[in-house]
Amino acid sequence: MNNSFINTVEKLSDDLYMITETRSIHCYLLIGTEKALLIDTGWGYEDPRPILEELTGKPVMTVFTHGDGDHCLGARYFDEVFIHPLDYGKMRRNDTGEERRGMLEHRLRKLPELASHMDTESYCRTLLPKDLKVGFLSDGEIIDLWDKHVECVLTPGHSYGHLMFLEKESGRLFSGDQIMDGHNIWHFLKRDEQAGFAATLSSLKHLAAREREISAIFPAHGRTPAAKQCLFDLIECLESELRENYQNDIPFHSHKGDGYQHFFRSVNLIYSDERLAEYLGNPVYRD
Ligand SMILES: [Zn+2]
Ligand SMILES: [Zn+2]
Repeated sequence: MNNSFINTVEKLSDDLYMITETRSIHCYLLIGTEKALLIDTGWGYEDPRPILEELTGKPVMTVFTHGDGDHCLGARYFDEVFIHPLDYGKMRRNDTGEERRGMLEHRLRKLPELASHMDTESYCRTLLPKDLKVGFLSDGEIIDLWDKHVECVLTPGHSYGHLMFLEKESGRLFSGDQIMDGHNIWHFLKRDEQAGFAATLSSLKHLAAREREISAIFPAHGRTPAAKQCLFDLIECLESELRENYQNDIPFHSHKGDGYQHFFRSVNLIYSDERLAEYLGNPVYRD
């Protein structure tokens, strides 16, 4: 298997591979009869095309769950990529040297050996190509891989244009950053970057109503596949549990600002008081 230090490959089934960038971001390659679907590209610390060519000789369509840099800045290696239009601006806004440098420094603190496996300066300087073709996906649209049909499911919350991808035949759901099994879910950024908890809850309840169509959940970070129960833990958390217990939450600090971290069963939520206040409907008071 064509593993590298940066990208490790795991075969999940005959038609599904997980490519994990820097032990952190899971990208999925779903191989159909006619073509393959690459769901997210990571930061693009390395050209993934040799790995993709080894895994499949078929043409690869590249789609993004959302516009955060850890999911879409690897677009630089592809002629055409697809995203929901509401996250296109986010993708472009993240396409800066500063964003790359800030997150790369964060990654290097966790994985110092990475520095000897890539040209960090060149990486930070190289923005997405001006002629990158970007196609837009809409809610309910079906991507046809001939033997497989993948539905784009708009799930606003973590971002406004967040998409999950549901493979209709097998029920595999690729959940991006919106459902995780114990890994932190960010609801921490400003209102122009992330939708509120009400939008998240609505997205999750629509999925829960389609529970019978979902057989397994493949998140973009952390344990995979995630237990299906994670969806219901998150719904319970946002519907009632967070409201009752946020007073016990612990402060959380990051380079993006300060907030709080909430744990409930499989849920690990990182959020700002701005997000909590709009959810509670009043300013946040902590004892
Ligand atoms: Zn994200
Ligand atoms: Zn992410």
